[in-house]
Amino acid sequence: MGIIDNIEKIKHEIPSHVKLIAVSKTKPTEDILEAYDSGQIVFGENKVQELVAKHEILPNDIEWHMIGHLQRNKVKQVITKADLIHGVDSVRLLKEINKEAGKKEIISNCLLQFHIASESTKFGFLLNEVFELLENSWFENLDHVNIVGVMGMATNTTDTNLIRKEFESLRKVKEELESHIPTVKEISMGMSNDYEIAIDEGSTMIRVGSKIFGARNYNL
Ligand SMILES: *Cc1c(COP(=O)(O)O)cnc(C)c1O
Repeated sequence: MGIIDNIEKIKHEIPSHVKLIAVSKTKPTEDILEAYDSGQIVFGENKVQELVAKHEILPNDIEWHMIGHLQRNKVKQVITKADLIHGVDSVRLLKEINKEAGKKEIISNCLLQFHIASESTKFGFLLNEVFELLENSWFENLDHVNIVGVMGMATNTTDTNLIRKEFESLRKVKEELESHIPTVKEISMGMSNDYEIAIDEGSTMIRVGSKIFGARNYNL
C-alpha cells in the first residue's frame, strides 16, 4: 500500500475530532508532497534543522508540528515555523519560547510534555510535578505562549494494559491542568502502534509516522 492509501485508511478509522499528524522525520520531500497532494496538511518533525529545511521548500499552507525534544538555543530558529511545539518539558524552555515569540510579536502554541512511560529515556515533566507547576500562576505572565494541551509517549511495549494506564494518567493530568489553565484542551498521544488505545483514552492528536510512510532508515 502507498502513502495515500495508508492515510485514507487511518483517517477512516479515527473519529473526526482526532487530528492526524503525519510524522515525516527522515522522509524525503517527495513523500511529504505525495501526502500533501492527497489533502494531508499537518506534518510532524522531531529535529529543528529538518523542520526548518522542509518548511523552506514545501508549500506554505503546511502546518508543521515540532514533536521532538527542543533545546533552548534552537527556539529562535523554529519559533516562526512551527505551528505547535509538542515537547515543552521545562519551565525554562517555556520562558525561552515566550521571550523569542515576544521578539517576533507572535503567540506560540505549546503542549507540555509529561513523562508517562516507564522507560527512563523519554523527556517530560513528571506526573506529580503538575501541582508544583500550577503554583503561583506564573504562567499567566507568559503573554506570548498559548498552552493548548499536553503530550506524552507511552512505553514501547506489547503490554497494552500498561500503555492504557499511561495514556489514562496523561488524560488525568490534562484535566487537572485544564481546571487552572482553560486553554488546555488537546492531548497529543498515540503513535503507529498504540493510537487506537490512545484515542480510547481521550487523545485529540495522534502522531503517526511508520504506518503512513513505512519504516524509517536512519542510515541514509
Ligand atoms: C517518530 C515519532 C513518532 C512517530 O512514530 P511511529 O511509531 O513511526 O508512528 C511520534 N511521536 C514522536 C515524538 C516521534 O519522535
